[in-house]
Amino acid sequence: MELEDHAEELASDLGVDKEEVKSDLQNLVEYSVPIDEAKGSLRRKYGDGSGGGGAPESKDIADISPEDSSVTVTGVVLTAGKRSIRYQGDDHVIVEGRLADDTGVVDYTAWEDFGLSPGDTITAGNASVREWDGEPELNLGESTSLSFEDGSLEVPYEIGGDADLADLRTGDRAVDVEVAVVECERRTIDGRDGETEILSGVFGDESGRLPFTNWEPAPEIEEGNAVRIENAYVQEFRGVPEVNVSEFSTVTELGREVDVGADTTTMDVAEAVRTGGIYDVEVVGNVIAVRDGSGLIQRCPECYRVIQKGQCRTHGDVDGIDDLRVKAIVDDGTGALTAVLDDELTEDVYGGTLEDALEQAREAMDQEVVADRIRERIVGREYRVRGHLSVDEYGANLDAETFAESDDDPERRAREFLESIDTGDEGESEEVKA
Ligand SMILES: [Zn+2]
Repeated sequence: MELEDHAEELASDLGVDKEEVKSDLQNLVEYSVPIDEAKGSLRRKYGDGSGGGGAPESKDIADISPEDSSVTVTGVVLTAGKRSIRYQGDDHVIVEGRLADDTGVVDYTAWEDFGLSPGDTITAGNASVREWDGEPELNLGESTSLSFEDGSLEVPYEIGGDADLADLRTGDRAVDVEVAVVECERRTIDGRDGETEILSGVFGDESGRLPFTNWEPAPEIEEGNAVRIENAYVQEFRGVPEVNVSEFSTVTELGREVDVGADTTTMDVAEAVRTGGIYDVEVVGNVIAVRDGSGLIQRCPECYRVIQKGQCRTHGDVDGIDDLRVKAIVDDGTGALTAVLDDELTEDVYGGTLEDALEQAREAMDQEVVADRIRERIVGREYRVRGHLSVDEYGANLDAETFAESDDDPERRAREFLESIDTGDEGESEEVKA
């Protein structure tokens, strides 16, 4: 290897200027320092952070903090997923995934095509650190020197992106799933490059269901088919996570059936809210109040939003359409959310049709009587609510698909409650018994 090549290798490993490294190397060789020793000393000079102006300190992944401006890390690429994003007016293909060593895992975004694949052990010199949601993330870009290690690092994490639908969260990248296509429809949307056809629907597996969008319709994605999808990503849409299948995803038909679990995930309210949004979830709790805007309501015929006194905020004076809705606050002791019931579920809890509600309101000359009757019927009772949960700064809304009075036997619950007191804390049980 010529001096030129050694200099080039060092410069690329250390992320420093080649001419600078070359002149240093030349000096050392002229002083009869063996080439390997010379390179070692330059690696120390530029690489360990003590040389001044060199590559940043080498860090364990667990020790990377959002306060670091840049770091040097060695780790195993767990996932590497391509995605196209629009950045400052241009389309960029980026690679996103997770990098691990034996201390932890960190998300990364590569702005250059380094050719990363799952299982590669790499050293990223001068990777910049940014904060995302309170956690550090690595940016691998122009100023990053990236080298592939010969040996492979042992890490206590699974390599590859295989996941169950129930485990997917907004922001997940380079995900691989094996799913049944439960629902699928072809739609035309106004994309950024004109009208374009997409597929959207619902995927299912043993663990649950999630909505999806397929931006470049894959022929394998068809209702009733079972498919393996590699390199999908998860993004929020209308408050719930959605699987995105892009032009960079690979879709193959599976030669087997995928059972779609009938059981939905039941969670504590607090746990469900912490997910930040979940497509199919069930909570059990008491209705503690029925909020304003429940019962008999009117919607704008243009935008279908709820209107007050015939006034739509966007469309002004309109002839409203009558509808039924309930917004019920459900509390299970860990937290509260608003269950939103559509017209059909509202008819069930009201115990009548829209016509009945209109007649009751006419007779009372007040439409609040409909909400009042619903309050009387459901407040204080326990319900099992299943649906799509979205969480935003205004709170947690559970768009109910089913809303059924909990079938728990109240007598048994009372007995269990008393038993739990008997075996519980001494001081408290005294008080309750007395
Ligand atoms: Zn309107």
